[in-house]
Amino acid sequence: MSTLVQRAALLDEVVDLRIEGATLVALAPAGSLRPRPHEEVLVGGRITPPLAEPHVHLDATLLGERAPNVSGTLREGIANWARLRRNLTHDDVVDRATRTAEAYASYGALRLRTHVDTGSRVAVEALLSLVPILAERGIELEVVAFPQEGIFRAPGRREDWVWAIEAGCHAVGAIPHFERTTEEGWRSVRLAFDLAEAHDRRIDMHCDETDDPGSRHLEVVCAEALDRGFAGRVVAGHCTSLHSQPNAYAAKVIELVATAGVQVVTNPLDNAVLQGRYDSYPRRRGLTRVDELWAAGAQVGIGHDSVQDPWYPLGTANLLDAAYVLIHLGHLTSHAAMRRVFRTLHGANHLPFGGAPVLTEGGPARLLWWPLADELAILRERPRPRVWRGLREPVERYG
Ligand SMILES: [Zn+2]
Repeated sequence: MSTLVQRAALLDEVVDLRIEGATLVALAPAGSLRPRPHEEVLVGGRITPPLAEPHVHLDATLLGERAPNVSGTLREGIANWARLRRNLTHDDVVDRATRTAEAYASYGALRLRTHVDTGSRVAVEALLSLVPILAERGIELEVVAFPQEGIFRAPGRREDWVWAIEAGCHAVGAIPHFERTTEEGWRSVRLAFDLAEAHDRRIDMHCDETDDPGSRHLEVVCAEALDRGFAGRVVAGHCTSLHSQPNAYAAKVIELVATAGVQVVTNPLDNAVLQGRYDSYPRRRGLTRVDELWAAGAQVGIGHDSVQDPWYPLGTANLLDAAYVLIHLGHLTSHAAMRRVFRTLHGANHLPFGGAPVLTEGGPARLLWWPLADELAILRERPRPRVWRGLREPVERYG
């Protein structure tokens, strides 16, 4: 099976390319490749590497009616999840996670980093068991050991968290703002670095996911990353308190984020509905400061975070939806900013996995063809791309 793509945009160039089976056999300037007999031909559009999802919770996904959140708050989501978590079964987690991973793939995301609540060994084992199964379907999965209810709030939580890393989770998670005290939050950050050092893991924390300007764990994450030589190996997710902190303090922390090589991952869909819930009017939309992080030279990723779970009742696994909401709530409507948002999905979003893939002649056909060439039009229309997973046989959709 052979496909020729003619005159497609690739970043700022226009190219022709040919895909045969699992291989990108030719990548050349536009106008240089001619169709062969019986070959499929696509004309125009845009080519990109696959998208990467840096932040999702596949253990909690697709719970739908089982997880109504009446108050709409983060705290009710955590409480409802804690109840549902007791009755999880291996098959249920595998089924929901697989269907969600396939939904991501259908929208072009072939690299997924999921957090797993270490309060459920069933969920940890189920998601780790999916890593090789999804790899055979062309989907890379990384699992973060995430102690949803903190490591100090109840006996056994810290042990469960350490066990999950020993069981094979790829990165150490934490939730310092949810620990009982600020001091315990800081301690949890340092213990996460200790654990990552001991087991040679990356770090990916939920950090300061609150409107409270007094929640100041991100500076500690950056200081530890600097002191321990963890540049490029640490993700801080959400960082919404930064939205509400005084500008002078925010400027200091943002400079530290850039210097420390810590990547901030914003999750616009969840944070648009979970933050500001203690406000009357005016009502904040607690996204982190993406424009200021960019201006300081910091790396920012964009996560979808929730797909029909106790925190966010909507969600389709289409990362373009997260990008779309970020553009609105982050005032990122200049053409340059919107292009950067789109390119983040197949660029900076890959950094937690070690770096963005580059399409090369003779390399695997892991790539997307969008039916529109203009990146702004892709953001506006949010179409499904044609997806090549780098596999010999096409994959039947799950379920
Ligand atoms: Zn999360």
